[in-house]
Amino acid sequence: MRGFAFLALLCLAAGLMAQDQDFSKVQIKVTKVSGNIYMLEGSGGNIAASVGEDGIVIVDDQYAPLADKIATALKAIGVTDKPVRFVINTHYHGDHTGGNLPFATGGSTVIAQDNVRKRLETGGKAGIGPVMTMEQKPAPKGALPIITFDHDVTVHLNGEDIRALHFPAGHTDGDAIVFFPKANVVHMGDDFVRYGYPFIDVIAGGSVQGMIDACDKVAALLPVDVKVIPGHGQISTLADVREYSLMLKETSAAVQAAIKSGKTVDQMKKEKLLAPWDAKYSGKFITSDLFIETLYNSLTNQKNAPFVKHN
Ligand SMILES: [Zn+2]
Repeated sequence: MRGFAFLALLCLAAGLMAQDQDFSKVQIKVTKVSGNIYMLEGSGGNIAASVGEDGIVIVDDQYAPLADKIATALKAIGVTDKPVRFVINTHYHGDHTGGNLPFATGGSTVIAQDNVRKRLETGGKAGIGPVMTMEQKPAPKGALPIITFDHDVTVHLNGEDIRALHFPAGHTDGDAIVFFPKANVVHMGDDFVRYGYPFIDVIAGGSVQGMIDACDKVAALLPVDVKVIPGHGQISTLADVREYSLMLKETSAAVQAAIKSGKTVDQMKKEKLLAPWDAKYSGKFITSDLFIETLYNSLTNQKNAPFVKHN
């Protein structure tokens, strides 16, 4: 059993937590997903890697102290001696972008959605709402993405047209989902995770509606047999994404109905409103109560502009 609570906490408090973790014990596990696409697991978000004759492209880069181990693991695949030419960030959280600085210093070009760069540059607050807010420190200049995009960007390497597509308000406001069409693999970032109820960074522009939209768009657009790399957890299928999206819709509807009938968050918690989903999804960190809080804040957030789709 993996430390899901710890993972989720890292996702929130990466800057601080990174110093508390003993990275010397972390080993990088490499799994071939399909074609020349590999998944790397260590600590933090899953990494996807396209490893081929043109060099290496990685999606997300975990933590700075792991960069050497990640580079060594990529070399050990034995396909190429060429370096990591591009890093694509799926969102700004430190457990997905912590390696930006060492990789950029080593010559990689970091690519991300506009809002990822903004949030890394300024730092600020992250979290579910008043019940859980974390301070994120500004990232050093060398860690900032050099190339940013608004809607989408494509990297043409290793015979792949690697496409990163922005979903505007899911896990955060700067999410990218990255598709490798030739190998038929997608990296979902934290719009799809396997640790139970998801962490949604409502303070940084995330919303449950946006997460549902991202999952449904992927399910509608991608081949039915696409191999799915979640932000955290094991390689999955499109059926898993659909099931997760259904849970998001059903739990949202339950909270929406309770809001409409005038119930407070505390009443929803007391009544165990999400009981039908808890056995499968309630985690040690994003508990049933915290997910009620997340859904309530997401569905009632007046500060957020009306939910906009631009895909
Ligand atoms: Zn995250």
